[in-house]
Amino acid sequence: MKHIIILGDGMADHAVERLGGKTPLQYAKTPYMDMLAKQGRTGLLKTVPHGFPPGSEVANTAILGYDLEKVYEGRGPLEAASIGYEMQPGDMAIRCNLIAIEDGKIKNHHANHITTQEGTRLIRLLDEKLGNDKIKFVPGIQYRHLLVIKGGNKNIVCNPPHDHPNEEWRGLLPSDELLSELIIKSQEILPEGLSIWPWSPGYRPSMTPLTVTYPQIKKGSVITAVDLIRGIGHYAGLRCIEVEGATGLADTNYEGKAKAAIDALKGDDDFVFLHVEASDEAGHDGDLELKVKTIEYLDSRIIGPIYEALKDEGITIAVLPDHPTPVEIRTHVDEPIPFLIWNKTIDADDVQTFDEIACKKGGFGTLKNDEFMKAFMAL
Ligand SMILES: [Zn+2]
Repeated sequence: MKHIIILGDGMADHAVERLGGKTPLQYAKTPYMDMLAKQGRTGLLKTVPHGFPPGSEVANTAILGYDLEKVYEGRGPLEAASIGYEMQPGDMAIRCNLIAIEDGKIKNHHANHITTQEGTRLIRLLDEKLGNDKIKFVPGIQYRHLLVIKGGNKNIVCNPPHDHPNEEWRGLLPSDELLSELIIKSQEILPEGLSIWPWSPGYRPSMTPLTVTYPQIKKGSVITAVDLIRGIGHYAGLRCIEVEGATGLADTNYEGKAKAAIDALKGDDDFVFLHVEASDEAGHDGDLELKVKTIEYLDSRIIGPIYEALKDEGITIAVLPDHPTPVEIRTHVDEPIPFLIWNKTIDADDVQTFDEIACKKGGFGTLKNDEFMKAFMAL
């Protein structure tokens, strides 16, 4: 049996008055999700372990069955994998923003929307001037770059620059002398008004590849437009399939992503993790109409085509979000999320629709840790 997880980022939500007290998942027209819930088994899943922030990197890692206490290393190492930097033992990777500063304050976290070309040029310049055997600047995308420090201290307090606009940057320096020094030196090298800003350090995550934990997976892949998810896939031993026009927004290439998943599963892959970011972005924007639309797109343009193409070929399908991003709160919350698992021979429960409320009565009950992944792979 082959397996696919189809994940709508941030898709879960709360009851919304403007939808007559329904959640976007309840309100949206989702005939495929509802049919799969009806013919399959459902439940709730705790995706954010106690003590962790409800970030997508935490929730997606947990869904794949990993123990966050053991493998969580922050963003740096995930982004390193995403841009193709293979971390060596002893490497600490830390996200390195290029930011704009003005009058001693952080003006913005993205260096006035710097382009990848200009960002790359400046990061290479910094590497030339400040890099050595221990310190390496690695270019990434737009304002999002990487700093690698051999033997660096990861137990430090850093301030994400997007959380501190218009605050004095000196008061926000990391609790680490080397990093603070690099920030100050970078300002002498970069054009006036720009600075580096490192945050979220970590070492290479010690993640056992999924192919080892679940021997029924001989080859697997991840399909996503998001760096962090690509990084998780890399350390989980999955191949990353690039889809042209995958943007992470509602205008993403849904059909291209569905086709890539179908081709992979009709080919050599036994397992696909297909991640769609659009509903999370709509949630952050507080755009209710768009959020409903992204859920309907996921249903008609991803789940529908995948189900139709693979239903007779021995496939088990799971559909779930990673965490709720409620449109009225506009940020992630750590509540359990609904999930469904379907295949042709599964013992169905009584749940008739796929949403936050109906799945509370699902046959799986409420799962945590690796229970979802184990149940899914056992089918
Ligand atoms: Zn997310």
